[in-house]
Amino acid sequence: MTTPSYGFSTRAIHAGQEPDPTTGAVVPPIHQVSTYKQDGVGGLRGGYEYSRSANPTRTALEECVAALEAGERGYAFASGLAGEDTVLRALLAPGAHVVVPSDAYGGTYRLFAKVLEPWQARHDVAAVADVDSVRAAIRPETRVVWVETPTNPLLGIADIEAIAEVTHAADALLVVDNTFASPYLQSPIALGADVVVHSTTKYAGGHSDVVGGAVVVAPGATTREGESVAERIGFHQNAMGGVAGPFDSWLVLRGLKTLAVRMERHCDNAETVVDLLTAHPGVTSVLYPGLPEHVNHDVAARQMRRFGGMVSFRVRGGEDVAAKVCGATEIWTLGESLGGVESLIEHPARMTHASVAGTQLEVPGDLVRLSVGIEDVTDLVADLRQALDRLT
Ligand SMILES: *Cc1c(COP(=O)(O)O)cnc(C)c1O
Repeated sequence: MTTPSYGFSTRAIHAGQEPDPTTGAVVPPIHQVSTYKQDGVGGLRGGYEYSRSANPTRTALEECVAALEAGERGYAFASGLAGEDTVLRALLAPGAHVVVPSDAYGGTYRLFAKVLEPWQARHDVAAVADVDSVRAAIRPETRVVWVETPTNPLLGIADIEAIAEVTHAADALLVVDNTFASPYLQSPIALGADVVVHSTTKYAGGHSDVVGGAVVVAPGATTREGESVAERIGFHQNAMGGVAGPFDSWLVLRGLKTLAVRMERHCDNAETVVDLLTAHPGVTSVLYPGLPEHVNHDVAARQMRRFGGMVSFRVRGGEDVAAKVCGATEIWTLGESLGGVESLIEHPARMTHASVAGTQLEVPGDLVRLSVGIEDVTDLVADLRQALDRLT
């Protein structure tokens, strides 16, 4: 069941997950297995021969994410970065060029700067909130334009439709990291993206109990040479082997079933937290695409269902105050990562984004990032308020 005509939650709960044909189990079993009995040499049952190549629990997840993103094919990986690396090595070759966002997940930038550069794949940084900046960074060798939206941690918004147009005019492919929005809030393929990547560690899994990645390819996407992007990524997934294991696949499948209800609550709570922050005298600015004063609020309103559960803000008093606020809450847990049911607080400059210090992606020291969870919002607001009242 992959038809996009069903609503989002119907797809999330059923796509790729027919009841088990032998037992009727309504949830796909965890096929914790490496190899499969063949009925005579080459007589595979259902195409399964070895679990790096394919595993039934992983297949269920791959079909589910493809249905949620309305793609041709989905792939599940051991982490978001394993998926990103596989996409990039499937689409680039030495001498190729990538346009990368000036505000991005630090690990993604590290992949471009420290892993792909020595492999002779070059990158230029563009401010993806500005289509002209992307256009200016594209060269004849540009094979991929990489966009993250909303961005991490500055909550910038890229106009996916406009960037897809500029990218396709240069005969390149647009990859969108849809981790922050989740497939529930934003559908990059419908806006022209060729490939969507997710860290399923975040909202897709949603319970901070699994590390994983997913990649979905748009129907009919081809490289400049006319090769199927889906086939190239499928080949590289098996050849490089960074696949999601059966139990991790099962956890992400379970998380996806409640994605829509969780995202609605994340958004509700984030909006209330934003109200507190915008009114607090110790906060100098609030970064949230739902605010009318956000520079690309209109774009966000056009391409997102709601504005998400991630909020960043800057505090009066600079870096030390920001770092202290991060350690002064009780319910908000000081920690990296995001997208789980529990609220997290962190200091990007010293934590998630320490690896981009001194690069074009450096983030301000007075910045605090929140992953707003689904606890009772009155508790979240009171806890954050006491920390800000005391320290700013
Ligand atoms: C976490 C994250 C990644 C990397 O995913 P991992 O699962 O940690 O490998 C990539 N992009 C974004 C936006 C992320 O938040």
